Amino acid sequence: MRSLKLIFLLTMIVWGIFSCSCNSKEKGATLQGCIYVGSIRSDKYHLPECEWAKKIKPDNRICFKDKEEAREQGYVPCKVCLQVKVDKP
Ligand SMILES: [Zn+2]
Repeated sequence: MRSLKLIFLLTMIVWGIFSCSCNSKEKGATLQGCIYVGSIRSDKYHLPECEWAKKIKPDNRICFKDKEEAREQGYVPCKVCLQVKVDKP
């Protein structure tokens, strides 16, 4: 009977660790994991804090770790949050 208790205890510990790390991973993926955010329904990519990025539905949202990755997939920078600064004298 002792081993049953032990298994139960271990299960609870493993479950606790597993569910905990799962939650933090999900939270990190939406904000910190995304350097740039794009939508599968458009060809623009944004900074996560961009108002347009926030309008993208989680189902349509995709993450890019850098500009190269976004460009390789045919995405162009958003004019609101990723304005290319070339006009500066
Ligand atoms: Zn934007």
